[in-house]
Amino acid sequence: APARPDIAVDSRFAREFPELSIPWSAKPVTAPRLIALNKPLAEHLGLNPAELQSPDGLRLLAGNRVPRGAAPVAQGYSGHQFGSYSPRLGDGRALLLGELTDGGGQLCDIHLKGSGRTPFARAGDGLAALGPMLREYVISEAMHALGIPTTRSLAVLATGEVVQREKPLPGALLTRVAKSHLRVGSFQYARATGGTDLVRRLADHAITRHAPEAAHAENPYRALFASVASAQAQLVARWMLVGFVHGVMNTDNMAISGESIDYGPCAFMDTFDPAAVYSSIDQNGRYAYRNQPAIAQWNLARFAETLLPLFDDDEERAITLAQEALGGFQREYSVAWLRGMNSKLGLSQDLSEEVSSPVINDLVLLMQEQSVDYTSFFRALNHAARGDMEPVRQTALDVEALDTWLEGWRQLSPNAEQMDRINPVYIPRNHLVEEALDAATEGDFVPFHRLLEVVIDPYHERDGLTRYASPAPANFGPYRTFC
Ligand code: AMP
Ligand code: MG
Ligand code: MG
Repeated sequence: APARPDIAVDSRFAREFPELSIPWSAKPVTAPRLIALNKPLAEHLGLNPAELQSPDGLRLLAGNRVPRGAAPVAQGYSGHQFGSYSPRLGDGRALLLGELTDGGGQLCDIHLKGSGRTPFARAGDGLAALGPMLREYVISEAMHALGIPTTRSLAVLATGEVVQREKPLPGALLTRVAKSHLRVGSFQYARATGGTDLVRRLADHAITRHAPEAAHAENPYRALFASVASAQAQLVARWMLVGFVHGVMNTDNMAISGESIDYGPCAFMDTFDPAAVYSSIDQNGRYAYRNQPAIAQWNLARFAETLLPLFDDDEERAITLAQEALGGFQREYSVAWLRGMNSKLGLSQDLSEEVSSPVINDLVLLMQEQSVDYTSFFRALNHAARGDMEPVRQTALDVEALDTWLEGWRQLSPNAEQMDRINPVYIPRNHLVEEALDAATEGDFVPFHRLLEVVIDPYHERDGLTRYASPAPANFGPYRTFC
């Protein structure tokens, strides 16, 4: 029999921030069944996958066997949800188990989602259904493989419990790993409940974990803000470049670490459409694809508001400094997006903007007019860069207009190998995700594992996987996601 996993974790957040955490225990899971275990991630964390699969290991993953040094807590946070402020959200169905140092020396949170009601649960049942937890697993791991900063998924357990949604569904629990679970909403909660002193302590904690260089700046808190704004500019640019729509960019779902967090109603765009919205509850399109940079900036403004007293004693001056930093976000985002588009098109970064900008702007209009499948279109361009025009011509409605654009682009000598490394063949396409989650809900996990295997190796084109690289069949219809 495998040995009992004997792991030790720290409980630094729980210890240092009793004001922001409520000690709590995970609900006992009587019949845990391991559905997915991320072995490479487990090993990177110094955990033994074989031990994690033992009965004691499952109890550990479920939070029912508390590791040495752990003091599980529900974290408090506030948040602007669709623009309206909720003073008290917090971990309604989640717990921070503790912190661990991974093989790269990075401190990370081990976190449970779906571990039962907490004092922050409000009307919620504290539970999670299997489908959404597997969605978070597959999408977060795909994002990681695409090189996009994200929380990771260590395991999904089926709990054996029935969770009541529109219909009864199998219950599950996700064990999540993140650089931290500090959110913009954590600062909003600290400001509202503890005032400037608590915000200062939380900011010092965030500096240690996410922006150590800020500690040496003339004003560490302004440097922290600039660092978070920069990480978010880079992150949102990556989302835009890969066609990712987060779907619920509330301030409680924006991480201070710069990692993507909370994979609820998210989706990858199929047909290129700047107005793309998938979430069933986003009726006004607040979190539409094209709005994501502006929303990130809006969320950062809410973050800045919590830090203003730390920026400068003079409020006017503090506001000016915050506005300057927010302008910095906009500039950094634009540069990151342009550079990323350059890379996707195989163009040299030395090319002057006067040359590359018109090509990029024309391309965006063309993709929109021709309703191309975003991911296939870029991957087909890799072939076009090698002189094979057929794949890309097949994605377009108006081949003549496309040919004109292609000619201008090819004159800039695109580098096909560079494109192979940046334009994915395989993303978690909506229809494939739904198919995998539906099958899993019925007890068949094969499509999920197959999809996972494909999307965690996104750039390397393999034989026999055409289905995973193709747009949804016409009968899939418009896609709607639910939290
Ligand atoms: P989200 O929309 O996923 O960011 O969640 C917003 C808030 O609702 C957070 O405070 C969650 O902890 C809480 N929440 C979501 N689902 C549940 C649930 N089933 N039970 C308790 N709290 C929940
Ligand atoms: Mg959330
Ligand atoms: Mg959520």
